Amino acid sequence: MHFVTFSILVCCSLGLSWASEWGYPDLDNNKDAPFPDWGGLCDSGKRQSPINLAAKWSLRGKFDELKFQNYRYTQKNLEMVNNGHSIQIDDFDDVLVMEGGGLAHEYELEQIHLHWWSEHTINSVRYPLEVHIVHRNKLYPNMTIATNFKDGIVVLGVLFHVSNTPNDAIASIIKNLEDVRAYSRINKPVTVSSSLAVDDLMPQSTGNYYTYAGSLTTPSCAEAVIWIVFTETLPVTLEQVEQFKEIEYSNGKQLHNNFRNLQSINNRAVVLVELDDNRSGAAAGRTASLGLILILGLAAQKFVL
Ligand SMILES: [Zn+2]
Repeated sequence: MHFVTFSILVCCSLGLSWASEWGYPDLDNNKDAPFPDWGGLCDSGKRQSPINLAAKWSLRGKFDELKFQNYRYTQKNLEMVNNGHSIQIDDFDDVLVMEGGGLAHEYELEQIHLHWWSEHTINSVRYPLEVHIVHRNKLYPNMTIATNFKDGIVVLGVLFHVSNTPNDAIASIIKNLEDVRAYSRINKPVTVSSSLAVDDLMPQSTGNYYTYAGSLTTPSCAEAVIWIVFTETLPVTLEQVEQFKEIEYSNGKQLHNNFRNLQSINNRAVVLVELDDNRSGAAAGRTASLGLILILGLAAQKFVL
């Protein structure tokens, strides 16, 4: 009896400590290293992210334009932190709100973080960098509550392609990396010395994107995310991407990759939205008012039939 109790305690305390120290496989030592089980919904969920976005398997959609409030304003007092899994930026001077497209609600910007090697692939191509611009549905007071709802979070995904031209916005972030790079700096935010407008991290054309219902790509893997991954990619140099790979997640260990493995699409619909220049106002308005979650849900049902 005592032995059983002891075993349960050992099992669960190990489980808990793993849960708090989740991580990515070390692909340097073994390119085919298995992706670790993160537990909970990460292993059992059916609407997980990221996925491969393929034009030939996507439904075509046309929506009103996405609208962005204050994204052009230069943010002068941003904070940056190495959280051991990524570099995250937050503490915006202004309230930045997006709406429109197929979204039924307004979404407020919470934080921006990066993944080196992209998490989403487009037509099976993996890109060197993916920026996630994370928003909370204004109906919900905080992220913890928002993660309980299917329409709780919108993440804009921006992929970067290799170029000889350094990316100025990424350069502004890199300028501050030195201050958060070391293991001893984990979870100690610094003020970003260079200014940055969120707009600078987004493509010119925000009318073309893949959208689908998915999850956070880190534990808890909550299935609360409407993903909007732009099809237009931005340039970055490999030298710039290498800078991110030098941040430490453990004593003396560098975070060389922080992308989650691809997840099954299951019965989900992926919609490829293309900017509609000639739409009739009435029809477009009716489509948009349905709400993206509803449309994605209906489309998924049609897929099953
Ligand atoms: Zn992310």
